[in-house]
Amino acid sequence: MTTLFIADIHLGNEHPEISPRFCDFLYDEASRATALYILGDLFEVWIGDDGHQPEHAAAITALQQLTQSGVPAYVMHGNRDFLLGSQFATETGCTLIDDPIVIDLYGKPTLLMHGDSLCTDDHEYLQFRAQMRNPAWQQQFLSQSVEQRLATARHYREESRRRNQGKTQEIMDVNAAAVIEAMAAHGISQLIHGHTHRPALHELTVDLHPAQRIVLGDWYQQQSVLRCDAGGCQLSNLS
Ligand code: MN
Repeated sequence: MTTLFIADIHLGNEHPEISPRFCDFLYDEASRATALYILGDLFEVWIGDDGHQPEHAAAITALQQLTQSGVPAYVMHGNRDFLLGSQFATETGCTLIDDPIVIDLYGKPTLLMHGDSLCTDDHEYLQFRAQMRNPAWQQQFLSQSVEQRLATARHYREESRRRNQGKTQEIMDVNAAAVIEAMAAHGISQLIHGHTHRPALHELTVDLHPAQRIVLGDWYQQQSVLRCDAGGCQLSNLS
């Protein structure tokens, strides 16, 4: 039996081809899995559980069917869908999990993160992240109409595109010291995260012990899937 990890599916209007791919994956491979972990940015944008958009419907139905068939699905917030809440969880049968969280993966304690909090060289982004995660800001945002929230989300999206144009790849990647710090703080030797869209297996040393950082790719370029069982983990692209 296999435990599956994916991240950065980015379901939404910009890449409509992703939704059928994602649903096929849920109906096929994921339906035979031990568990499915979605490590953030399942949706390109999520403006609150009451703000469903038509482009989300197929994926929500597919998640419902997956969990109803008995496969547990765990969803972590990403930097785009951090407003996924209890209504979404109830509707889909998914369990929302913290970022970071440590799980027991076939006897190996494994740290799961979305990955954006490791990009500590991008000070501007971390400031923005703190604002978005502020409960008062979220309450104020959620009190607006769906139309207002969609407009605000579009505005932030354009701002983010504009700001990121001037940033180097290094600034937007994870910071090596932040990775080691997070792994050491949890005393673990295996980290799985997404966000950077740079799928890879990185060997590193944490507290003098060999450790591994597994980076999941996204679903509009690589359709990246990590399959883990008692024998280890394998990262591959479906497309
Ligand atoms: Mn992300």
